Amino acid sequence: MKLVFATNNSNKIKEIKSLLNDSVNLLSLEDINCKEDIPETSDTIAGNALQKAKYVYDNYGYNCFADDTGLEIETLNGEPGIYSARYAGPQRDAHDNMNKVLKNLENKPNRNAHFKTVIALIIDGKETLLEGIAKGEITTEKSGLEGFGYDPIFKPENHNITFSEMSLEEKNKISHRGKATNKLIEHLSNL
Ligand code: IMP
Repeated sequence: MKLVFATNNSNKIKEIKSLLNDSVNLLSLEDINCKEDIPETSDTIAGNALQKAKYVYDNYGYNCFADDTGLEIETLNGEPGIYSARYAGPQRDAHDNMNKVLKNLENKPNRNAHFKTVIALIIDGKETLLEGIAKGEITTEKSGLEGFGYDPIFKPENHNITFSEMSLEEKNKISHRGKATNKLIEHLSNL
């Protein structure tokens, strides 16, 4: 089966390809010559994932999946959420974003947060949402050099180190994206 992953991120493609069996021929947006910016205008993470998958299914006719991720902080009413990539502005700078979070949480005792990844899959018109959540808390300062985004200020539950102080392998085992990806692989293997 041909299946498009609606992303331009070659690392994400490579990672999922290595987990899929030979019955799935995974294609990127580049492979199907989709060069336009796919709209992401929903006000939820699931809505954005579905919007991207639908766009490819409707306009290119391929079975397809898309993912969307956000950091949701309890005391900030779920912010930054869908704005995670550009929380501190259009420059999409991870350090600016983290500084904004740390500032907004100053003197706030509740630092609970979670990452949420939703993968929206469309096979022959049938939509399936697969969700992965990593619960944890926001630290008071940045710590660690690995990973990306908010990793240096996110301490997953039952751990005393941030995502950024873990190896990628260690993070993948407990991360939002890892959990959602495992659900996708399982779902595809049962088709
Ligand atoms: P995307 O939907 O995968 O592009 O993620 C949107 C934004 O969420 C990214 O630009 C990061 O700021 C943040 N983000 C997503 N996944 C992670 C993660 O695993 N660690 C830290 N930040 C993340």
